[in-house]
Amino acid sequence: MNGRQRPWDEAVLHVGCEAVTRGLTVFEGLKGYRQPDASLGIVLVRQHYERLARSARLLHIPFETCFEEYEAAACGLVETLLQPDKEMWLRTTLCVTDGYWGEDTKADLIITGYQTEATAPEAIHLGVSTWRRSADASMPARIKTGANYQVGRLARIEGRRCGCTDMVLLNQWGRVAETTGSCIVMVRNGTVYTPPPSEGALESITVDVIESLARSLGIDFVRRPIDRTELLVADELALCGTLAEMVPVATIEGQALRSPPTLLRTIQARYFAAVRGREPHPSVQLTLSPSTSGANHADRPLHEQLGRLAGREMASQAAE
Ligand code: PMP
Repeated sequence: MNGRQRPWDEAVLHVGCEAVTRGLTVFEGLKGYRQPDASLGIVLVRQHYERLARSARLLHIPFETCFEEYEAAACGLVETLLQPDKEMWLRTTLCVTDGYWGEDTKADLIITGYQTEATAPEAIHLGVSTWRRSADASMPARIKTGANYQVGRLARIEGRRCGCTDMVLLNQWGRVAETTGSCIVMVRNGTVYTPPPSEGALESITVDVIESLARSLGIDFVRRPIDRTELLVADELALCGTLAEMVPVATIEGQALRSPPTLLRTIQARYFAAVRGREPHPSVQLTLSPSTSGANHADRPLHEQLGRLAGREMASQAAE
């Protein structure tokens, strides 16, 4: 924030800025995994940086941080915060701090870090929401802005009433867009399908990786529109995203999936092997944060303050 690290309680914005009054922020979630040498490997930082720049451009928010500064700031925060035996999720948020209705806009890049556990995601119960992904001409899904998540919040509130962990958002044509904080992949007859961004899905970095991994494994991967009813008769389903990783779906609208998630589990295993550096893959570039062997600056007051509060925030920010 403002080019330097600050304790959580001092990381504040003015109540009058457009980030607060209109939710005018764009952001990225980055995930770092422990590597065999105990360093932390942050996945595809350049792709996240470039998508942040695209979101900022679409909302006319100046983004003046160069890639090298962005990457160094992320690594610096990991070095300060990361606790032994944990992994880390970083939220890099460009907040509009000055300006009014697009005039004299100024923004600050704020990075916050959250400890995560290295556990495999469990299968979830998925529903289909009555709330819809907004159209490209109203609130484009391509822009990763905080305001775009209001609909996801409403969908999750709706889902909790019927025991669903997450919800599918349909687009304005009633076809599948994505879920509240991740994309969706479906298997039918041995092929993996996912809706393209023009159906209202974010331009997902994880989906690109999964496509590459699937092709390397000899599995067909196709991007095409998906009808709601196809979800209900799918062989396998999973959510995918940087934080969601690859979460298999156990039930859709209260019905068990037709098959165990065999094909998607195979891709999921290859994904974890790649991001944890056990079996590298060209589609998974890692930025290694070197001094994160576990015995890092645990005695620093900054570490304590940021780490404690970051942990508290983690649950509420999951799956973005
Ligand atoms: N859709 C939404 C709404 C998301 O928040 C995310 C997570 N960033 C995704 C899809 C998946 O995108 P990615 O794979 O780039 O994390």
